Amino acid sequence: MVDPTSSLGEDVDESNAPTCANCDEPILNSPTHRVVTWVEDEKARRRHFCSDECREEYDG
Ligand SMILES: [Zn+2]
Repeated sequence: MVDPTSSLGEDVDESNAPTCANCDEPILNSPTHRVVTWVEDEKARRRHFCSDECREEYDG
């Protein structure tokens, strides 16, 4: 059941949406949104992708 007026628990609008590291598209509550996290220089890093395809393209 989807209620279009209810929040999905995250306040994401176009101004603060993450962008895909591969294609630069803003990611707005995309069901295919992927987040890759890793640690570099003892800091948590995060990269967003709009889909598995972009994640694989970026890695490739
Ligand atoms: Zn993308």
